[in-house]
Amino acid sequence: MAEESTSKHFIEQIIDKDLEEGKYEKIVTRFPPEPNGYLHIGHAKSILLNYGLSVEYGGDFHLRFDDTNPTKEKEEFVKSIVADVEWLGAEFKGGVLFASDYFDKMYEIAEKLIMKGKAYVDDLNADEIREYRGTLTEPGKNSPWRDRSVEENLQLFRDMKAGKFEDGAKVLRAKIDMASPNINMRDPIIYRIARMTHHNTGDKWCIYPMYDFAHPIEDAIEGITHSICTLEFEDHRPLYDWVVTEAEFPHPPKQIEFAKLYLTNVVTGKRYIKKLVEDGIVDSWEDPRLVTIAALRRRGFTPESLKTFMKLVGISKAQGSVDYAMLEYCIREDLKPKVPRVMAVLDPVKLIIDNYPEGVTEEIEVENNNDLPGAGTRKVTFSRELYIEREDFMEEAPKKYFRMFPGNEVRLKGAYFAKCTGCDKDENGNIIAVHCTYDPETKGGDCATRKVKGTIHWVNAADAVNAEVRLYENIIDEEKGKLNEDGSLNLNPNSLVIMKDAKLEASLANAKKEEKFQFIRMGYFCVDMKDSTPDHLVFNRTVGLKSSYKPQ
Ligand code: ATP
Ligand code: MG
Repeated sequence: MAEESTSKHFIEQIIDKDLEEGKYEKIVTRFPPEPNGYLHIGHAKSILLNYGLSVEYGGDFHLRFDDTNPTKEKEEFVKSIVADVEWLGAEFKGGVLFASDYFDKMYEIAEKLIMKGKAYVDDLNADEIREYRGTLTEPGKNSPWRDRSVEENLQLFRDMKAGKFEDGAKVLRAKIDMASPNINMRDPIIYRIARMTHHNTGDKWCIYPMYDFAHPIEDAIEGITHSICTLEFEDHRPLYDWVVTEAEFPHPPKQIEFAKLYLTNVVTGKRYIKKLVEDGIVDSWEDPRLVTIAALRRRGFTPESLKTFMKLVGISKAQGSVDYAMLEYCIREDLKPKVPRVMAVLDPVKLIIDNYPEGVTEEIEVENNNDLPGAGTRKVTFSRELYIEREDFMEEAPKKYFRMFPGNEVRLKGAYFAKCTGCDKDENGNIIAVHCTYDPETKGGDCATRKVKGTIHWVNAADAVNAEVRLYENIIDEEKGKLNEDGSLNLNPNSLVIMKDAKLEASLANAKKEEKFQFIRMGYFCVDMKDSTPDHLVFNRTVGLKSSYKPQ
């Protein structure tokens, strides 16, 4: 495993300085998802960062839903997000929090701004507001309604709340500076009229606060000290500071931005993931080819592997894409010393040992995991008929092929040396069985007098367990470009291959959902949590055994 860096990242340095200067007594961080989709690996980074800081500094971590935009929000997403955060092991203080719990307080602050002369009701429509806003190179213009009196503004805002106006007829805007070089500061809208039923507040409100106004208030109410977000909010920071200052919070939180996590060869970004789900290209938000947290879990990733991954990636302000292979490396390293190594044949063909007595079954002792001291051994059955991988036999072998071909001797993993004698075919020329003879003197797979170059795995045919095994590749092949010419995603047609007739060693008969194994030579696998049943086991390949990533 790569050395963990001991130097502190820039956010820790900011917190250290704030603590030194006595700015805050206790560090409080939060994760503020919008419940409009499942969380993905980028969110995992944010959760682990925020939660990790709260642990490191002995503070608190909050989970708060940013549910200020009711049209896009769904109860299903709230549930999945809570489950994901819990699965990652991020303990949140004070239960699940909702921005909508603070709607009253936000309204109160809006009135306060009006009374301070810092907010006004505007009658311009959306197009006019856009026109008046100016551009990056040209300043904006003041709205003709900008100089309404405090009394008039207050009355109009109350009327907005009381439902006296149509949706979109008026807005409440912060009165800042229409000439500001930062467009976010050109009198941003802070309340809009929209008759939407909210999952939490029902029809109580027909006006809703805008994100840039609501978010800093949510943070401040909860006593968040460091409000960590991604770089796209950097330009919004002056507005964040304006809101908490004008609202006169005694210990205003501080916004800090870091770079989003992107991975190669997969789809990050809620918008794209949502489209794959809606277009039916994947089976759900939990399809193991996705990098939603739920999908990663289903694929067989562990919270530990994600934590290690985030440590390797680090925290920075520089945008970039991380190689998916690095994530694979982390799960491999995590599972290697943890999970049992078993035998499973994914694409089976019969192997008949012609000189092995019929009707005899012997038990062979094999190691559970030679990288885990004390993992012990188990017994697997062995008899005259086994299954081996179809690709472990060739009638005519090229050079450097050391597996089964007529005349060649291989080791049947943990059992015996076996010499291939030929194969049977059906009328179409398909191979239906491979034949061999074994050497009873080589029990355990060792022989003092001669060596073999190939070792293959096998499963006893008589008591093999049937299973469906799903093999995955990255959903996008980035070498060919992430997008097609028409802007659609360039999908890899082989991202899912289903092996319907896999044969597993008998010890797997009772494998439980989410249980993880190494299938010797084939990779790491876990029992699918959605589709697997005791009568029809389904396994997902989490990752193969070979790595293209090497830690520095
Ligand atoms: P997406 O970009 O996928 O649509 P989002 O930013 O709209 O995601 P939110 O629910 O609004 O999703 O974000 C919750 C938190 O997660 C925010 O603080 C956001 O900055 C952070 N976050 C979102 N995507 C990433 C990412 N790729 N890497 C790190 N943090 C992220
Ligand atoms: Mg968002």
